[in-house]
Amino acid sequence: MTVTAKLLSLYRVDQQLTGLQSRLRAAERYLSAQEKQLGDLNDQARALQSQIRQLEASEHNDETETKGLDERIAMLRDRMNSAQTSKEHSAHLTEINTLKADRGLIEERAIETLNKLEELRVHATELTDQIAEREKVREVAKSDRDRKEAEIRERLEELQGLRAEAVKDVPGSALAIYEERLAKHDPEEVMAPVEEQDRRNMEYTCGNCYTHLPIEPVNRLLKRSDELIACPACQVILYIEEDLRDSISTSHLKKNKKAVPSD
Ligand SMILES: [Zn+2]
Repeated sequence: MTVTAKLLSLYRVDQQLTGLQSRLRAAERYLSAQEKQLGDLNDQARALQSQIRQLEASEHNDETETKGLDERIAMLRDRMNSAQTSKEHSAHLTEINTLKADRGLIEERAIETLNKLEELRVHATELTDQIAEREKVREVAKSDRDRKEAEIRERLEELQGLRAEAVKDVPGSALAIYEERLAKHDPEEVMAPVEEQDRRNMEYTCGNCYTHLPIEPVNRLLKRSDELIACPACQVILYIEEDLRDSISTSHLKKNKKAVPSD
């Protein structure tokens, strides 16, 4: 078995692993998107609650302040009514009017606060509903992920076992090249078959990037050379499908047989 053939066995296992895990990864991505949205909604709800608490506190302060002013106004009224002089009377009246004006401002502010509070509470209720909805979606996404994980677990372990076996056969230097390619490229760009375009004119292309291949590396693959052959253009590790190799060898044999009588 050539090093290319050994790598190809490993690659076939890796392709199955990738295919198996991609369904699980899609479910995981969906779940984490739901969790992200839920987290954002909870952040919004927390910010809103703290805004509501602040407004409630200022509403409470306004109430206390208004009550204090009312008490003071009542007290001044009593004093005004029992005032001995008109000067005293008018001084109390002036103060009462100032306090009433202050009270008016506080009341205006309190109404604004109450309106804002009402608005925020409506928004908070909407958010609570959205969070409840999103939590349901998240639960569905989570059980879907868990189910997919359980479905593939057995096959995954089996393939991981096969992979460990396949890796044992591959020489270290070839494995390093393969693993590096696997780490940096999409799985389908790690190895690619040589594709035949025209046998008579010896036209072959790279199965990954479709570049025309020089005949020399193709010949080395046909002759089962024990070295890795990379596409000169995209560096994908090339291999020849057994069917194609057989059919090329057969046609070569036929050509040679035909050539014999004429010699
Ligand atoms: Zn290529």
